[in-house]
Amino acid sequence: MALTIFNTMTRRKEVFVPLEEGKASLYCCGLTVYNYAHVGNLRTYVFEDILRRVLRFNGYAVLHVQNVTDVGHMTSDGDAGEDKMQKASERESKSPWEIARFYEEAAVRDYKRLNIEIPEVMPRATEHIVEMIEIIERLEKRGYTYTTPEAVYFDTAKFPDYGKMAQLRLESQRTERDDVILDETKRNPSDFVLWFLNKPTHLMQWSSPWGAGYPGWHIECSAMSMKYLGETFDIHCGGVDHIPVHHTNEIAQSECATGHLFVRYWMHGEFLLMGGGKMSKSKLLEMKEEERPPSTLQELIDRGYDPLAYRYLCLQAHYRSEQNFTVESLEAASTGLRKIYATDPSRDTLADDAEAYAVARQRVLDAMNDDLAMPQVVGILNSYGSYRLWIEFDAVLGLDIALRTQRAEEVLPTSVQNLIEARNAARAAKNWSESDALRVGLIELGYDVADSPQGTTVKRRLL
Ligand SMILES: [Zn+2]
Repeated sequence: MALTIFNTMTRRKEVFVPLEEGKASLYCCGLTVYNYAHVGNLRTYVFEDILRRVLRFNGYAVLHVQNVTDVGHMTSDGDAGEDKMQKASERESKSPWEIARFYEEAAVRDYKRLNIEIPEVMPRATEHIVEMIEIIERLEKRGYTYTTPEAVYFDTAKFPDYGKMAQLRLESQRTERDDVILDETKRNPSDFVLWFLNKPTHLMQWSSPWGAGYPGWHIECSAMSMKYLGETFDIHCGGVDHIPVHHTNEIAQSECATGHLFVRYWMHGEFLLMGGGKMSKSKLLEMKEEERPPSTLQELIDRGYDPLAYRYLCLQAHYRSEQNFTVESLEAASTGLRKIYATDPSRDTLADDAEAYAVARQRVLDAMNDDLAMPQVVGILNSYGSYRLWIEFDAVLGLDIALRTQRAEEVLPTSVQNLIEARNAARAAKNWSESDALRVGLIELGYDVADSPQGTTVKRRLL
């Protein structure tokens, strides 16, 4: 089955046909780096990582760009509210640049722990101001902008297709959206900022043909995607919350600047529901810790879970479905993952039956290529329980199955097991000198020693 994906623009599954044979260009909206990544954001990045791996499994050379928003994203997707970066900078008494680097590094650390492959290009908004100004100049020349004392605006009335993907009716925006009105000089409520002006208290400022200021949020994604992938590229991803404002505005400014199609396939990941429903932050905080699902990956690890159990949990819901995230679902995913790691390679029913293997493989492939039906993929793989099949599709699943099953397979001598148990006890009692001595003992026996949420783990050093 050829790879089909659901295109938000047409609201249909379509066969993926790339612009250039054998290649796939992919742009994903990245983090605003003012805080640790929320597990909800990480669900979107796991979906995009699966897409990237599925494209590669189908033989495409993938060029994946994911931006880092280190300037000018307001508290909402509209233009109003305080700047998230600026707010964090005040909260932590650091410069916005320091804040951005710190949380960018934290995000990359989370990606690695979740086996999210690092995109080929991770451009930072602050390093692409020139490209953003160039697009605004093109828009100005073509008559799509107007300037007020507050900002350079995009005039949405000039783009008849505005809001097409989101199926927005501009009239309704006047009443339904209260975040869009920033200043009285704005002509239409849906008009959005390309370049902010006259904001002397803002810490990040650049000079521009319109005066000192800083870019609106949306323009950065147009600038960085087109710079690295060309003015028309294959796939653009993001969370569903990006459809009505951010992606709608990206399309408007990109297509008006270039005069042609911006993106060929739009794909959007659904929400992660914390605690199993649309729960407010305050309600979540009222829950006891053991009932409240962790909100960051570090919290998840600190509470003793394997980060890959979270990845496995993400695979159990389709990316276009809302997913309930509860402590119970995380526990179930941990148990399920341990079961996979316990798969016995020596009892593989499919290993020596080429025909049966081909049939099974095709079933998995068809599910995967049907708009990334990962819950079915995982279901089929679990039903066969074939080590060889798991390993082949782990190129897409990213669950480290080969690595972890080998570790589980290795039977440790009793003397080593005793040392490990003694060390875990010493660590639990915070007896660090004892724990260090036992560590040295294990190293002397020829083992590498690591600390994981499950306690001491060892691996025999290869001689
Ligand atoms: Zn974006």
